[in-house]
Amino acid sequence: MARRDEFEGKSNNRNKTKNRKFRNLLIIEAVILCIVVGLYAYLILILPKHGKGGNNSVNEQTSGDTKDNTDTVTQALTLEEQKQRQLEKEQKETEKKISDLIAEADKLALGYDYDKAIDLIKSFGKNYTDYEVLIKAVAGYEATKQTLDPLGAYDSVDEINHIFFHTLVADPKKAFDGDSKSNGYNYYMTTIDEFKAMMQQMYDKGYVIVSIHDVAKKVKGEDGKTKYVTGNIMLPPDKKPFVISQDDVCYYNYMTGDGFATRIVIDENGRPSTEMTMDDGTVSVGDYDMVPILETFIEEHPDFSYKGAKGIVALTGYEGSMGYRTNDKASPTYDQDQETVKKIAKVMKQWGWEFASHSYGHRDMGKATYNFTKKDTDRWLKEVGSLVGSTDIYIFPFGIDMETTMGHYSSDKFKYLKQSGFDYFCGVYKDPWIQVKDDYVRMTRRPLDGQAMLQFPERLADLFDLSKVVDKTRPALK
Ligand SMILES: [Zn+2]
Repeated sequence: MARRDEFEGKSNNRNKTKNRKFRNLLIIEAVILCIVVGLYAYLILILPKHGKGGNNSVNEQTSGDTKDNTDTVTQALTLEEQKQRQLEKEQKETEKKISDLIAEADKLALGYDYDKAIDLIKSFGKNYTDYEVLIKAVAGYEATKQTLDPLGAYDSVDEINHIFFHTLVADPKKAFDGDSKSNGYNYYMTTIDEFKAMMQQMYDKGYVIVSIHDVAKKVKGEDGKTKYVTGNIMLPPDKKPFVISQDDVCYYNYMTGDGFATRIVIDENGRPSTEMTMDDGTVSVGDYDMVPILETFIEEHPDFSYKGAKGIVALTGYEGSMGYRTNDKASPTYDQDQETVKKIAKVMKQWGWEFASHSYGHRDMGKATYNFTKKDTDRWLKEVGSLVGSTDIYIFPFGIDMETTMGHYSSDKFKYLKQSGFDYFCGVYKDPWIQVKDDYVRMTRRPLDGQAMLQFPERLADLFDLSKVVDKTRPALK
């Protein structure tokens, strides 16, 4: 037992030692494990974070420094650059403003409006003299202005032509097709090609369109009374002023299908134009009558128009105006047409066109009684004048003057027209003729139609080489 005990004792001791060793081993292992886990945790979880953070903070620090430095540099550069860029921008803007201004002023000067051209340059500002190019422009206009003569090549307003047309024939095949209206068109109409040839020849000879209001104008005397005096048209010494008008711009019903435009419109560019129905039934907007054709010609030859003058459009009222049946209250488009005509007239005036009364009913105003004249005038004012605006120009139907006097008008008809606002009265004659009275102006017009070209070609010899004008498709006059 003792041995066993001893043994057991020994054995117990041995076991105790063994257990301690084992415990120690476990502790060591646990410590190692802890160290490994801790190291692992350190390496995997904390180190990267820390490292990253550290790096970040370093980076932040670095990039922060760099950024700050860059920002400062960039800011400095940007400020400098911005200033530079701003300067360059302003310089470019100024250059553009100057070149635009000169281009616009040159256009005015081409139209002989040197005063407006000079004013426009000076509108740049008081500092316009800082720019050589602006000083030169003004000096150039001033110098050209000195070369101008009153009435250009003419000595007197008596020499000024006033020419007129009816609606132009856009399609001669249709107008001169031998039907009952052909001969009438052949007498009183001019074709588009003829018109263009005439304008070209007149331009080549130095003719320049002027407003009738520049030929003779109303001035206020020292006594406070107004009176008409000859105008002060200043042109280069080789230029010849003339007035142009077009009668019956109404596109009457009888003309339908005969090769004419159908109405005046404002095109997509805001420019006065005409509409015409083509053979295939489509409607085309373009140069189918005098208004847009002259616009195109003047656009190409700005020196053909004095201070923006275009022509006078003479309207009757019995079939409306400019292709709109504004006389017909039953028309489904009545209200709309009123507005359209108002708008067209407004735009046309902005483009330099003027309007005239051609009477309401197109009657012989020489034979007309006072009562008829009054009624006809009132109606024109009410139905046409209300749309196109007031006008002081009256163009006699058939060119027949209300009086045959060579002196001062004296009839009640004149008094009524005068009191209705009309001061310029236009008849027809083969040569230029004008009377400037204190209270009105009378100016005749030369027809440039088929009759004038075919029957009295010698009357037009001063204006045209008709062999280069007359449409070859025109039949003989009957
Ligand atoms: Zn007429």
